[in-house]
Amino acid sequence: MTDKEFIEEIKLLGINPTQEQLSQLEEYYNLLIEWNNKMNLTRITEKKEVYLKHFYDSLTINKIINLNDYNTLCDIGTGAGFPGIVLKIFYPHLEITLVDAREKKLKFLDEVIKKLNLKNISTKHIRAEEYSEKFDIVTARAVANIQKLLDYTMHLVKKNGYLIALKGDIDSELVEEVQTQINKQYTIKNIIKFNLPVEGSKRSLILIKNK
Ligand code: SAH
Repeated sequence: MTDKEFIEEIKLLGINPTQEQLSQLEEYYNLLIEWNNKMNLTRITEKKEVYLKHFYDSLTINKIINLNDYNTLCDIGTGAGFPGIVLKIFYPHLEITLVDAREKKLKFLDEVIKKLNLKNISTKHIRAEEYSEKFDIVTARAVANIQKLLDYTMHLVKKNGYLIALKGDIDSELVEEVQTQINKQYTIKNIIKFNLPVEGSKRSLILIKNK
């Protein structure tokens, strides 16, 4: 998507970007491409594609929850910072922890945080299952199937908080796995499916509440 399409589409999500936020995003893109030459961060490198499949995609969380209502967020398996860094840029009030089991990618994220002058955001090199903080919101994009996500991350979600899984197409996985995983402790609050603008890839968001 072009810059113009990006702005139009995130406005439809309820986000009115400032010039500073758009500049931060552009700098993030430049750093991503620069560091991608040294380490494997993303196979998507064309600008229009990164803006659609990484940046816009990260912000679709707004379809399922209003992040203005929450304070702390942990992005599990953040990789090159999706959705964590993008959310920090557009929801600067959030206190964000970016977690990944791979240390190398976190070096890149430390540099992004420094260069974009982002505050109240830090990186943590740990496996989700060994981590023991609590957050209002835990996000995970393209990290594991729902069964594993529930096993690895629900202990990080505060009571009345949410796990949000950002996924591609989930048809078969959902019916067979998610339903059987739900127990008295947590519940599926919402599942939404939609297509990305411009080229129509299938996406799903799953919202799970820790009761
Ligand atoms: N969320 C990013 C990266 C997805 S790739 C994106 O959407 O582009 C999955 C990432 O999860 C990898 O960086 C991997 O190192 C990390 N990961 C997988 N299992 C993990 C675990 N149990 N704890 C922490 N990180 C994990």
